[in-house]
Amino acid sequence: MAEYNGVMVFGEAKEGKLAVITTELLGCGRRLASELGQELSCLLVGSDVGGLAQEAISFGADKVYVVSDPLLKNYQTDTYVLVTEKVAKQGMPKVLLLGHTALGRDLAPRLAFRLGTALTTDCVELAIDPDSKSLLMTKPVYGGNAQASFASESLPQIATVRTKAMSPLERDDSRQGEIITIEAGLDPSSLRTEFLERVVAEVEGIRLEDAEVVVAGGRGIGSAEGFEQLEELAKILKGAVGASRPPCDNGWVPPGYQVGLTGKIIAPDLYIAVAISGASQHITGCSGAKTIVAINKDPESNIFREASFGVVGDWKKVLPAFTAKVKELLAD
Ligand SMILES: Cc1cc2nc3c(=O)[nH]c(=O)nc-3n(C[C@H](O)[C@H](O)[C@H](O)COP(=O)(O)OP(=O)(O)OC[C@H]3O[C@@H](n4cnc5c(N)ncnc54)[C@H](O)[C@@H]3O)c2cc1C
Repeated sequence: MAEYNGVMVFGEAKEGKLAVITTELLGCGRRLASELGQELSCLLVGSDVGGLAQEAISFGADKVYVVSDPLLKNYQTDTYVLVTEKVAKQGMPKVLLLGHTALGRDLAPRLAFRLGTALTTDCVELAIDPDSKSLLMTKPVYGGNAQASFASESLPQIATVRTKAMSPLERDDSRQGEIITIEAGLDPSSLRTEFLERVVAEVEGIRLEDAEVVVAGGRGIGSAEGFEQLEELAKILKGAVGASRPPCDNGWVPPGYQVGLTGKIIAPDLYIAVAISGASQHITGCSGAKTIVAINKDPESNIFREASFGVVGDWKKVLPAFTAKVKELLAD
């Protein structure tokens, strides 16, 4: 009987290219596969995804499974879970990784159930236990106040991984790999849902999730007008504006600005937290930032425990001076 072997990444595509999360998973999968001394494969599912196979190889895959079918043009749970289950049963990976994206969060639990195995979601760190060769899956727990590592005895070990938690490999187009085409074998009459339309939320400027700099405001900003000053700084730094929950609840900014446990989880290079107290539910969303700078009038505020740099003071005085200095430095 075939044995579980290797690491498989479920690939996602965006605008005709591999999604960034997929390149990150391939980078991490490459490391795990090397530690296991086994191979890394990537599964591409869609209506015309064969062209992405070489890209997956360039980012580290040894083998790419391609399932192309017009019925797979748009993500639909029924079809995607069927074909992913089929390929997972054929490829029998020991480890199966998906992004903790809208798609991954929908697909992974159903897939785990169908494969009769466990799932660990929202992982930020993955490692191979040197003794048991089992996958150790680390994720934030208790609203981000602690991290816990899980191992599962059932195979394949499935994990969804948070965006920006892993680093992609340098793209190398000279890498060679094997491409395996698999028939989807879907029966259209088995589909229980019909795809009608995709509505893309309009975003002005850079998306919060993609921004390298985020200027975020909290309840202490006090009004929608206050956020205009944050917008100004974000624009100068070519970043995006975020918020804690109260400004979203109060309607000062749209709900999509919310960072945190029930908002977006981001990992920019720089996170400027203005008049945010640093509640654990908020920190969960920004703890992946490389540098946090806090502006708060309360020196005892928790945000200063999280920040690398902090200014104690009224943001209405600090922020204009900060913005003016940034303008001056960028003009040099
Ligand atoms: C299940 C659950 C999920 C949640 N999910 C989220 C989430 O996703 N995201 C999130 O953010 N919260 C979330 N919350 C809410 C969270 O617990 C906090 O209530 C919230 O983050 C507090 O937001 P804040 O820091 O803006 O407000 P506050 O805690 O009220 O802090 C305001 C800060 O502004 C400072 N300040 C006031 N005026 C000024 C000034 N003039 N100059 C400088 N500083 C000033 C104050 O010193 C204070 O530190 C959640 C809560 C629960 C229970």
